[in-house]
Amino acid sequence: MRIRRGWDIHFDTERYLAQVGGNLPRLLARPDVRADWEAALADARALVEPAAVWEVFPIREFRHERVILADGTRIGGGPVVTVVAGATELAVGVCTAGAAVSRRISEYQRNGHRLRAMFLDDLGSWAVDQVRQQLCRAIEADAVGRGRRASASLSPGESEWSVGDQAVIFSLLDARPIGVTLNESLVMSPIKSLSLIIGIGPGPLGVEGASNCDFCTIRERCAQRRLRLA
Ligand code: SF4
Repeated sequence: MRIRRGWDIHFDTERYLAQVGGNLPRLLARPDVRADWEAALADARALVEPAAVWEVFPIREFRHERVILADGTRIGGGPVVTVVAGATELAVGVCTAGAAVSRRISEYQRNGHRLRAMFLDDLGSWAVDQVRQQLCRAIEADAVGRGRRASASLSPGESEWSVGDQAVIFSLLDARPIGVTLNESLVMSPIKSLSLIIGIGPGPLGVEGASNCDFCTIRERCAQRRLRLA
């Protein structure tokens, strides 16, 4: 199992404003709104603790819409088999922006700082997505270094792949060293965390070079996706 902390996370006000759009650029001209934004930005820069844990598992076979790993673990549904078709290994990872930023969001919500909480919530999501992008590139670089190829990544719950497979991912990976756990409702703690899979194989794979957003059921209304595309 591999663990890495210290991913490069950057927040840029102009980029955020350009992508979120709407009335926000005009609202930020108001001193009170600007103060909330600046406070959230300072919190994000101080509190985000990016980390990821991942492991690569050999695949035994594909059976209908499921991938069967060498140890018998069954994982999949939705677009999983289509995306990782041809893979001989499955990379499984969990990323987080850390507990401190999630705690601060909750504090702001409890204390009625709703706008500050919303800004920090967006920045926390942006942070964990940046970890995801870098982790995917690291897994792909490792695969290429071993003469293999990597598929697009997928996360349970984003597409038609059931969120129920969070439990399978957490049965494969112990994410506690980076402070991430899964509760009985299949919700990760800290909340600014996500899990993913990537297929790895020696030949062409089902879907390569695509974004997980391409399979996401909320892609048309997702501000985070617009930030990623910026
Ligand atoms: S569209 Fe949004 S929620 Fe869906 S995968 Fe992309 S960033 Fe995540």
